[in-house]
Amino acid sequence: MSFVKKINMKLLILNEIWNGFFLVLKNLNKKKVTLNYPFEKGAISNRFRGEHVLRRYASGEERCIACKLCEVICPALAITINSEELSNGNRRTKIYDIDLTKCIFCGFCQEACPVDAIVEGPNYEYTKEHHSELLYNKELLLKNGLDWETEIHHNLKKNNWIQKQKNN
Ligand code: SF4
Ligand code: SF4
Repeated sequence: MSFVKKINMKLLILNEIWNGFFLVLKNLNKKKVTLNYPFEKGAISNRFRGEHVLRRYASGEERCIACKLCEVICPALAITINSEELSNGNRRTKIYDIDLTKCIFCGFCQEACPVDAIVEGPNYEYTKEHHSELLYNKELLLKNGLDWETEIHHNLKKNNWIQKQKNN
């Protein structure tokens, strides 16, 4: 049978359509591997580095002591801090800005922080339309901290436990 005849025969019996049809039937009862995002979401690691937050203690006091270690270590120069001394001698940040358009999500700021104040939380759904919306200030970071505290507390606890197991 010539090549042209073979092609015509395939077209005649709708070969590809039947193949596709049987493939669907074969996989009809198999477990789905796709997710119907955003209604279904996949699991993420507890070490996932998403949107930044600034945390408070349970008393409501800000954790950050304005030591500026995060600002110094940031390789992308994305963090800007301005600090002040309070009447009780404690130091606090007046300005804490993060430019998320510069950030490379390396996690160094989080690693450097001695009081777990700046953390990259589990939120990855923060796409914006304008550049200016990705310039985070202290107010927004603290709000994020309140919104994600439960998840972050759980993740940090788990990470510390894993770290301890590794060291033993
Ligand atoms: S994650 Fe890395 S790049 Fe982003 S702010 Fe922190 S230290 Fe800078
Ligand atoms: S977030 Fe942490 S590392 Fe950065 S200034 Fe505050 S206490 Fe220091």
